[in-house]
Amino acid sequence: MPKFRVGIDHNTCQGFGACVELCSKFELSDEDGKSHVEGAKKLPSGEAVELDELECHKEAAEACPFNAIHITNLETNEKLI
Ligand code: SF4
Repeated sequence: MPKFRVGIDHNTCQGFGACVELCSKFELSDEDGKSHVEGAKKLPSGEAVELDELECHKEAAEACPFNAIHITNLETNEKLI
C-alpha cells in the first residue's frame, strides 16, 4: 500500500513553476498552464498520485507560493503540507 499522497489543486496553481524548478517530478503543461506531477490521476479539482516514497515532492510543495501542492501520509492520515 502506498505511503504518501501528493495532490495538486489546479484551482490554486498559478503556473509560475517554482515546483518544476526544484523537482523533476513536476512539469508545467502547455495545454492548461498548470503543474502536473508524474504518475498522477485526474481529479475534479486537480490531480493526485500515491507513492511509496517521496523524492523531491516535499521540497517542491514547500516552495509553492500558493500552497497548491498537498502531501498526506496515508499511514497516519497526517497532512504533511
Ligand atoms: S509552484 Fe505551485 S503555483 Fe507554481 S506551478 Fe507549482 S504548483 Fe503551481
